[in-house]
Amino acid sequence: MEEKQMRTWAEIDLGALEHNYRALRAMLPAGCRFLGVVKANAYGHGAVEAARRLERLGAEYLAVAGLDEAAELRAAGITSPILTLGPIPAEQAGEAAALNVTATVCHWESAKALSEAARAAGRTLKVHLKADTGMSRLGLVCDGEHTAAAVEEMAAIHALPGLEVEGIFTHFADADEDEAFTMLQFTRFLDVLEALKGRGIVPAIRHCAASAATLKYPCTYLDMVRPGIALYGHYPDPSCVGLDGPGLEPVMRLCTRVIDVRTVPAGATVSYGRTARLEREERLAVLPIGYGDGLFRCLSNRGHISIRGVPRPITGRVCMDLCMVPAGEDVQVGDVAEVYGPAQPVEEAAALAGTISYELLTAVSRRVPRVYHG
Ligand SMILES: *Cc1c(COP(=O)(O)O)cnc(C)c1O
Repeated sequence: MEEKQMRTWAEIDLGALEHNYRALRAMLPAGCRFLGVVKANAYGHGAVEAARRLERLGAEYLAVAGLDEAAELRAAGITSPILTLGPIPAEQAGEAAALNVTATVCHWESAKALSEAARAAGRTLKVHLKADTGMSRLGLVCDGEHTAAAVEEMAAIHALPGLEVEGIFTHFADADEDEAFTMLQFTRFLDVLEALKGRGIVPAIRHCAASAATLKYPCTYLDMVRPGIALYGHYPDPSCVGLDGPGLEPVMRLCTRVIDVRTVPAGATVSYGRTARLEREERLAVLPIGYGDGLFRCLSNRGHISIRGVPRPITGRVCMDLCMVPAGEDVQVGDVAEVYGPAQPVEEAAALAGTISYELLTAVSRRVPRVYHG
């Protein structure tokens, strides 16, 4: 489909992805591996295209949420190691091993089941152990008090046949804001590594830094870093913006095109629920983007869309497929409108929507074609 025929599309600048990769990579010491996180369709940017570019650039590892996302990459010919950041059920152990996908292991019971399933399939499954140092999400609890028991369990998992413990990792809960807690988590993780070493277990790939820690805490890099959002050109938190260094470039520009401009009389109300009323006669531009495309409905009467370089306030409620903005004197049918991009930062829309850029980017729906450049 030609861009001219699309109602709404997302321009994906793979050149910007490349720039961000190189900028982050330049922060790492020699020998430190780079894992590119491409879960959730690469944060809405297209997992296959992002993975292909990262693989070509030399990223040593990729990560997704579960086996279905990993299988999509393998089907597209991606051969890099892929880690599933979440656990996989034992029924998928054989398939994961066959696809050479590395699974995250979060406790003894599931490790035992994976081990049995892998052996039944006649294969060895690569795994990374997950230590929970304070996120309270996935992994063996390593909070000091329970660390010895967790290490005991990890050693037992390490001894299981059918599994190869290639790595170990943890995840920071507040690396963008709370330095003291991040360092506490990091120390807990180092304690786990030390205790394992005492038992002769040294996993080859030890990792903990996602984007925020990669940007802020070089001491946490260990054997590999694990950035996601920074690859797509966004800072995990306003506190990271302007840190010396990488100069990240947004990869996605979400665009739509004015499909109608209408003159609406004074006193008329706009869209469902009649939440906006025009004081005087006004030209309104109709845009073919709505919450069905991922434009949050809570941006009704709050967010802005840029046309001809001017931010125009969303007027009335965002509908499923459409929304309206003032057209001023200049906007014409066919004008391209930028919903997120350099003129209309996604961070601003996220702040107005009470959320983070991650959620807005991953919400760009399947019906929005991705158009690749660079
Ligand atoms: C999503 C995720 C990442 C990437 O996080 P960013 O903040 O996008 O860099 C890294 N590690 C784990 C475990 C994750 O779930």
